[in-house]
Amino acid sequence: RAKQRGRNTYHRFDPGHDRQLQVRQAQRERFARAIDNDELCLYYQPQVDMGSGRVTGLEALVRWQHPERGLLAPGEFLPVVEGTPLAASLGEWVIQRALSQLSAWQEAGIELPVSVNISPVHLLQADFVVRLEQLLAHYPQVAPQRLKLEVLESAAMHDIQAALEAIHRCKALGIATAIDDFGTGFSSLTYLRQLPVDLIKIDQSFVRDMLVDANDMAIVESVIYMAKRFGRPMLAEGVETLEHARALAGLGCLQAQGYGIARPMPPEQLPTWLATWPGRGEWQRLG
Ligand code: C2E
Ligand code: MG
Ligand code: MG
Ligand code: MG
Repeated sequence: RAKQRGRNTYHRFDPGHDRQLQVRQAQRERFARAIDNDELCLYYQPQVDMGSGRVTGLEALVRWQHPERGLLAPGEFLPVVEGTPLAASLGEWVIQRALSQLSAWQEAGIELPVSVNISPVHLLQADFVVRLEQLLAHYPQVAPQRLKLEVLESAAMHDIQAALEAIHRCKALGIATAIDDFGTGFSSLTYLRQLPVDLIKIDQSFVRDMLVDANDMAIVESVIYMAKRFGRPMLAEGVETLEHARALAGLGCLQAQGYGIARPMPPEQLPTWLATWPGRGEWQRLG
C-alpha cells in the first residue's frame, strides 16, 4: 500500500508519517476557515473562437487571498482538499459565487456563460444535482444554460455509471458539461462515446509542447481527429502563442483558451478586456 503512493511514499513506521498527517489535517482546517471567512475569490479566463473572434465563455478559476501568504493558485491548496469532503464545500462555494457573478454581469449587459471546475468527489455525491438545483433556484434570473461544468477526464472514468448519471441529469437541467484535461486520463474510446459531454478540452500539457514534441503533436492531432469523428466540439487549453493558435486552427480546433488570449483575471477587469479584444485581429481570422 505504501508503495502505491508513488511520489508521496512514506513507510509504515516512518515517524514523519504521523507528523505529516497532522500537518495535512491542520491545512484542511485552515482551508475550511478560508471558505467561512470569505478568503476565496474567482478569477475568470476567456474562451474564444479563433475563426469568428467571438468570446464563447469564461472559465472560473479559484484563488485564495491568504492574509499572510498572498494570492494562492489552486496548485498550492487543492492537493489537501481533493478527495475530502472539503472538495464539495469548495464546489458549492464556487457554484454560488459564479451564479452571483453571472447575475451581476447580466445586469451590466454581459451575457457570457461561466464554466466551473467540479471535483470528482463532489460530482459523484448522491445529492450533487439536487443541491445544484437548489443553488440555481436562488438565482432565478440566471438561466441554467449560462452555467457550465468542467469535469476531469479521470473523474468521469473513476465511476463511469455515476458520472454518466450526474452528467445526464445536469443536461436535463440545461447545464452543459465539458471534459477537462482530456488526454491525461486514459479513457477508453468506448466510454468517451457514451459520455454526453458538450465539449472536449484538450489538456494544456500536450498543447504546450506540440510544436517541438512530435509525440505531443500526435496526441493533439488524434484528439482533434477523434472529437471531429464523434461530432464533439473541442477547445484547446494553454494556447500561449499565435503559432500554437495557427497550428491548432490548421488541424480544425478553433476554440481556444490560454495566456496568449488572456490570463485569468478578477471579474472587475473583464469589461476592459472585452473592449480591447476585438483589436487583436490576428487571433480572430484563423478559421
Ligand atoms: P484547469 O481547469 O485545466 O484550468 C486551466 C489552468 O491552466 C488554470 O490554472 C489556468 O490559469 C492555466 N492556464 C490557462 N492558460 C494557460 C496558458 O496559456 N499557459 C499555462 N501555462 N497555463 C494556463 P489554475 O487557475 O492554476 O488552476 C489549475 C487547476 O486547478 C485547474 O486546471 C483545475 O483543475 C483546478 N481548479 C481551478 N479552479 C478550481 C475550482 O474552482 N474547483 C476545483 N475543484 N478545481 C479548480
Ligand atoms: Mg478547467
Ligand atoms: Mg484543464
Ligand atoms: Mg488542469
